[in-house]
Amino acid sequence: MTADPRSVRILAELESLRDNDAPTHGGRVLSYVYDSGLAELDELAAAAARLVQPVNGLDPTVFTSVAAMEREVITFGRKIFHGDQTVGSVTSGGTESCLLAVKAARDHAGIAAGSGSIVVPSTAHAAFDKAAKLLGVQIIRVPVDVGTTAVTVGAVEAALRDDTFLIVASAPNYPTGTADPVVELGELALARELPLHVDACLGGFALAWWPDESLPPWDFRVPGVTSLSADLHKYGYTPKGASLLLHSDRDRHRAQYFATTDWPGYPVVNPTLLGSRSAAGLAASWAIIEYLGEDGFRNLVVRVADSSRRLTKAIDGIDGLRVVGEPVGPVFAVASDPTSGTVVDTHRWSEAVSKRGFALQVQPGYTQTDGTVLPPTTHLTITPVTEQIVDELVEAFVAAADEVRGLPAQEPPQALAELAELLAGGSLDIDTVLGLPSEATAAALVAAGVDPHGGGSGELDMPAIVAAVQALPRSVTAKMLAEFLASFTNPA
Ligand SMILES: *Cc1c(COP(=O)(O)O)cnc(C)c1O
Repeated sequence: MTADPRSVRILAELESLRDNDAPTHGGRVLSYVYDSGLAELDELAAAAARLVQPVNGLDPTVFTSVAAMEREVITFGRKIFHGDQTVGSVTSGGTESCLLAVKAARDHAGIAAGSGSIVVPSTAHAAFDKAAKLLGVQIIRVPVDVGTTAVTVGAVEAALRDDTFLIVASAPNYPTGTADPVVELGELALARELPLHVDACLGGFALAWWPDESLPPWDFRVPGVTSLSADLHKYGYTPKGASLLLHSDRDRHRAQYFATTDWPGYPVVNPTLLGSRSAAGLAASWAIIEYLGEDGFRNLVVRVADSSRRLTKAIDGIDGLRVVGEPVGPVFAVASDPTSGTVVDTHRWSEAVSKRGFALQVQPGYTQTDGTVLPPTTHLTITPVTEQIVDELVEAFVAAADEVRGLPAQEPPQALAELAELLAGGSLDIDTVLGLPSEATAAALVAAGVDPHGGGSGELDMPAIVAAVQALPRSVTAKMLAEFLASFTNPA
């Protein structure tokens, strides 16, 4: 540590800012963070990142450590995802991996910019919406079965269009932790001569060692799978900034690149979205893989699986709640159980759990394109440290359910409920709202009690906000939340 007095003061200031953050360790935040529980792993990752701090990952021929580490991470990925011949890249995260998977598939198919479509399950990550938007591609969201929350091969087949150039499956998906039928989708992809991307961003580095023989193949063992993404900064326990994207063959991978010599500067050859880039995520991932090896990962995954089983069992035992669909791995969602006499509203419940010292993530209900509805849920990400607090969590689950049983769902903030009514009644036009300048949007937020500069702690009433998401057109809440975050991170 530095002894320079000014640096010490600056770091003390940062530490006091960090004191206001949600806890990144200890398992009390059941989303966003993936705590292995191994302090030495965090130290190793920090030291590895520090060693490459001055390196520019832009040019691995100049900074050859980058190439050496990337080769080894890819070699590890080949092994655990059963793709001997696969090739790929380490990216900055899941969103970048998904974006590049779409870009590579489009360019490999020779489809012009601004055309083509991708077919994804309803439950696929929003990163594919982002990819579609940025690449000018149509995204077709296929309704999933509301019982299993997995897509059916028939529904995907029916959604394919002449201009479709990619099918996406999740293993598992974020909203409910279930996996799509990759084997059947692989058959469909082969029959239709389409590529199939498996988004294993969330659980890839956990499912690879999941102790459940009944789990059907979901990786490159499945014929037809042409690319796979798995986030190193999730169950690879790396600090944020690392994901692995693998392709089944070299030409598909090469289609991911942007290269040009057609300017007066250095030849630009970028495998990923960035130009100059940090090697910190890569170095940390490489070091963690070296340290843990397959056995180390497996040991951690066994704990995750055990905690997941205990927690889903606990939910099943609570009158008024249920686990949604058929989660296969380290993530699951909780919804109200409509077959129960006394319903527990899942968002009220998650608030009551939060009061007991755990942060759960609330997710809105979602109407699929066929009119079927995925209910409002609460998301839980289980990590190796969850093991230490399982009993406490179960206690909180039960007590929270007892506290809120029978209460109706939370209403949106008054002003937003009124806005929803005006829009629904036709007395206000949605385009008018979408066209509002920033100041007016911010004023509407303040009127609704969602003041970006109000609380200071940034603590939001997420159940109320999610209630507003359900009540308002999604494009309206997207605009409002973007306004909120922009204001929140800027000077008043
Ligand atoms: C997290 C996640 C992503 C996006 O990853 P980021 O690292 O947050 O950019 C994509 N797909 C799934 C299934 C995810 O869980």
